[in-house]
Amino acid sequence: MKKRLLAGVKPTGDIHIGNYFGALRQMVESQGNYESFVFIADYHALNQIQNPKELQSGILETAKTYLACGIDPEKTVLFRQSDISEVLELMWILNSVAPMGILQRAHAYKDALTKGKSVVAAVFNYPVLMAADILLYDADVVPVGQDQKQHIEITEDIAQSFNHLYGKVFKIPEPFINAQVAVIKGLDGQKMSKSYGNTIKLFETESSLKKKVMSIVTDSKHPDEPKNPETCNIFAFHKLFSGTQLKALEKRYKEGDISYKESKEILFENMKIFLKPLWERKHELDANPTFVEKALMMGAEKARFVAKKKLALVKEKIGIAS
Ligand code: AMP
Repeated sequence: MKKRLLAGVKPTGDIHIGNYFGALRQMVESQGNYESFVFIADYHALNQIQNPKELQSGILETAKTYLACGIDPEKTVLFRQSDISEVLELMWILNSVAPMGILQRAHAYKDALTKGKSVVAAVFNYPVLMAADILLYDADVVPVGQDQKQHIEITEDIAQSFNHLYGKVFKIPEPFINAQVAVIKGLDGQKMSKSYGNTIKLFETESSLKKKVMSIVTDSKHPDEPKNPETCNIFAFHKLFSGTQLKALEKRYKEGDISYKESKEILFENMKIFLKPLWERKHELDANPTFVEKALMMGAEKARFVAKKKLALVKEKIGIAS
């Protein structure tokens, strides 16, 4: 029996190279090894995206991006969180065993408080919805970044509180932190992140990709000066996109046989070779919204089957007939 892996993704649609190499690619590669459930976390996004059109298009763009990158709806249960309303019922049930203390200590809530933002209840309750996501589908493995580890620990606490009261109903999930996934750097050498404005999106136009590549920050070494590939921001991208040429490029860097301009031009060509098949698949999906909708409906049907069964058991245990 394969272990079940569950991952939630934000419906922002604007996925960048860092997201791709840091998360998405692993999801595609792990499809055969796990029973994968991937959901688009639209209910989670409600406190960030409050424009209905933006949310709708974000959900579809995210679905198309995942499909274009190789998520196969026959192998992965790809679905919208909101298509399975059972998750909200379970969230309420979990609210009655979730200790306030651990929610008050949650990083996202504490950060929002210290930034003096007006905090909506959804920010406070976010870990309970996340626990419902995980526990409803009996997930064994939940891949998360280091920053999300606390949420998994909160899920464990909530599951244990429930199991203690009502018997062993919930599986305790394992966090799966892939330490091997390197942080992908952006155009300026800092971590690639939307908030730093240093990203290359997966679906840039060719001209905007070129502009971005040509704007990668370098030092001011002359073309014939030796250069250190390990500290060069362009070379960091070569490591992702220029596989077979990497050794030769490294040699040219060290021997002062390449200008940054030429290095960027080579990178641009290699990125195009890598990204073009993804762009083409995305265009096909843009032209075929019925396929995308069908894939999401198929995912919802499979997810609902699991969710209904689990919720029925939970309701029986707590004394509410379903
Ligand atoms: P975010 O949209 O920042 O929540 O990121 C979504 C996923 O992409 C998470 O699994 C992150 O760990 C991953 N990710 C985001 N930025 C990077 C980056 N620069 N390098 C590697 N992984 C990243």
